[in-house]
Parts: sequence; structure tokens; C-alpha cells
Amino acid sequence: MPQDKQSVDSVESTRFNELAWNLYYSYENFKEKTLTNRRFKHSDIVPLIEQLKNKKIFMVNKVGKSVEGRDIYLISLGNGKTKVFLWSQMHGDEPTATAALFDMFNFFSDEKEFAEFKKNLLSNITLYFIPMVNPDGAEQFQRRNIFEIDLNRDVLRQQTPEAKILKNVFDSLKADFGFNLHDQGRNYSAGNSFKPASISFLAPSPDFDRSITPPRENAMKLIGDLVNILNEFIPGHIGKYMDDFEPRAFGDNFTKWGTGVVLIESGGWRGDCEKQFLRKINYITILSALNSIASGSFLKQDLSVYESIPNNEELMMDLILRNLKINKDGNEYVVDIGINFEEINTNGAKEFYLEAEIEDIGDLSVFSGYDEFDLSDYTIHPGKTKPEPFNSIDELSKINPAQLLADGYTSVRINENNFQDEYSSFPFNIVLNNAELPSEKIEVEGSANFILRKNGEVKFAVVNGFVIDIANIESWNGNSIVIKKSVN
Ligand SMILES: [Zn+2]
Repeated sequence: MPQDKQSVDSVESTRFNELAWNLYYSYENFKEKTLTNRRFKHSDIVPLIEQLKNKKIFMVNKVGKSVEGRDIYLISLGNGKTKVFLWSQMHGDEPTATAALFDMFNFFSDEKEFAEFKKNLLSNITLYFIPMVNPDGAEQFQRRNIFEIDLNRDVLRQQTPEAKILKNVFDSLKADFGFNLHDQGRNYSAGNSFKPASISFLAPSPDFDRSITPPRENAMKLIGDLVNILNEFIPGHIGKYMDDFEPRAFGDNFTKWGTGVVLIESGGWRGDCEKQFLRKINYITILSALNSIASGSFLKQDLSVYESIPNNEELMMDLILRNLKINKDGNEYVVDIGINFEEINTNGAKEFYLEAEIEDIGDLSVFSGYDEFDLSDYTIHPGKTKPEPFNSIDELSKINPAQLLADGYTSVRINENNFQDEYSSFPFNIVLNNAELPSEKIEVEGSANFILRKNGEVKFAVVNGFVIDIANIESWNGNSIVIKKSVN
């Protein structure tokens, strides 16, 4: 028997974390296997939603259509007094939580595992979900809706049908809790910890004074519970989103109108480009949150846990090349070079390729890279474009790329009118016809094509931000870019 309050709390916290770990270990039983990457579309989730109509625990209603006529659904289950409203992907290119919601629907559909937990949960709370608020944006894998309006700046003006739907459902529910589910950039770190903010939380402010109203306090306490749980799964990778009041945003206004809103942002995680690990973490986080709400355990949480979450800082980069020597006018300088990749949608926004850009040059010791190389013994030189053009794609495949790079070239020219590819798997960039040649300057916002020499010998090349070991060139699995834009 527990002897005092301290040990009662620790027993309870063990029990909560035990649930989270059970969810973690049984996840594959519930994971929605048809959703495998981030670029799934409305047409991928509609059949999954239609199937829910056959399960008697779910209520499925169409609550309106997007600009392009895609149905937006409200799915509900449970019959408890406390109402919880969850909506995802109001930004079309932020799908991680949407996938997790479908994992949760499978979890609730199952009649065997976690039966006692689910029965208890659904008798205490009623859940309302809108997965994929912005299906047109998801179709293009873009943040904004098809009018180029950011839905999360349209709660007041209500010019988009999607924002109207979200607001109408909110008004009809007057939920006790709201979950505002987003993805954030990979460049956020948890404070100055050198770790990505893989999950960031916020209990949004209801006003410019950032008042802690009762609903906001509830959300802060609930987040405290979630931080304690997530510290077992992603320790040090939890950040807090800035709490400046944004008068045009949903979360801020929903808080102002009396709902305890929890913002969850899925950020970056090393080696998890498609965010499938963070999707699982979302699943565990949201189910743990529902457990905390149903049991009322969050009420015992101290605000200090929320307050101690490190702020999101923009201190992550995709790649940092450290301690390179650079020659300028006969003088030698030591620099770090930070590189970020941009995802460019291709094939109907079902796929993407990467385009690298130099983010910063100099002392980058306060930053951390998802990938880092210490290149203390190396000098860096801009990659050049081989001047003599090739005449066919066939000729490109006959190039010896190790020799090309050893000669200092990271791009080639080709005269070819039928070249359709938007990017390439060759370990060098391709400049079409009379397109502008890549800059041969190492400069911020410039392209990331370099040759790295050790004792004068070319050892590595960087092509479109991908590091190539010349001696091991067949292990290259990056993408180079195709430059098409003509110079007039
Ligand atoms: Zn967002």
C-alpha cells in the first residue's frame, strides 16, 4: 500500500506510462497499413472513413465540401460527458497526425485488445474528429487551400469553405478540449539542446496578454502529463511553440471561446523522413491525452512542467559541414557550411525530390545538423560545370562520375530537347541546352555543389547537398537537379 502522496503519485505515473508503453508495443496491430508515407490524398482516406460507417461505435457525417468539392467528414464516437474535438491537416502538407488518427480509428474498431481501457474512456468522453481539414491542399501537398489562403488565418474572416466548416463544427460542439494537429519545420530545435523539436506543444494564448484562463490552464496541465510520458520515448526532443497571440488563428480563438486547446506539432526526427515514427508518437500522445482527460489526472499536474518545456528555436539544419578551409585571394579561412533541403513536389504531388541551398556560412557551433561531417583536414572549392556539352542522355550514362568529380565538375551540360525529367539520379547536376549555369560561388542561398580536397586530392564531392565519397561513389543515393530555365 502506498504510504504517502508522493508514492501515490509515482504509482499513478507508472500506470500511465505503462499504458503508453503497451500502446507502443502493440502499435503494429492497429497501424493503418494503407497509409505509408506523407503524400496520401483525400481519395486514400475516403474508403477508410466509409468503412467506419459499418462499425456501430462510429458516427460518420459529411459536414461540407472543400473548394474543389472534396467531402469533409466529422467522425464521432463515445458517449461521455466531456467533449473532445480533434482536427488535423488544416495545412495540406502537414499529414502526420492524420495518419495517426486512422491508426486510432483501427484501435477503437478492434473489439479485443484494450477493451477495458476503451470502455472506460468512451463512457467518460465523446470524441469528434475532422481528419484532413484541407483536402485540396493535401492534393497539391501545399500548406494553403486552393485559394492560396492559410486556413489558420481565416477563423475571423471565414472566406474559405474549409475554415467555415471547422468553425461551424466548433460552434456546434463547444468542446471541453480541442486538439489542433500540425507538422512544423525540421529546423526547430528543443531550445539550445542540439536536438530536433520532434514534438512541440502549445496551449495557445486567448489574448495579447497571454492570460492563463481556466481552459488554457487545463490544456497546460494536460500537456504537462504528455511531456512526462513522452520523456520516456523521445527525451529532450520536446519543444514549446511560441505563445504570441495570433488573432486570426483557430487555436487562439478556440481558447478565447472557452475550449482547452492543445497544439501538437510534429517536427523532425533523424532518419524518419516520412515521419512514420513520429506518427506512432502522435498515436501514443493523443491516446495518452484522452486517458488523462477521462481520468481527470491532468488536474493534478503542476503548471511548472509546461513552463519548463524548452522553447522552439531554429537551430537545426539538414547538413553541416564543419571546419572546412576556404581560400580567398591567397588567404585561408575556417568555416562551417550549413545546408538545408527543400522538398519539391513531383508526379502530381505524390512524390518529391530535394533541392539543396546553403543556409549559412561561418561559425555554426550553435547549430546542430541532422547530418554532420567534421572536415578539419579538407579545403572546399566550388563545383564547376564541364564546359563541353554532351549531345544525348545516352552519353551521360557513359560518363565516369568519379573522374568527373575528381576533375572538379559537379554539373554537366547537355543539348537535348526531349529531356523531361525534373531531377536526376546521376551524381552530377544536368544543365539543359542554354539554361543558366549554376553559380560557382560559395554563398548564402546559393546552391550546394562543392569539391572537397585533402592534401590537394579530391576525396569528397557535394552535389545538390549530398555528400559523395569519391572512393565509394556507387553508394550515392541522393538526387541531383536538372536546370532548365533558359537565359534570354
Ligand atoms: Zn500547420
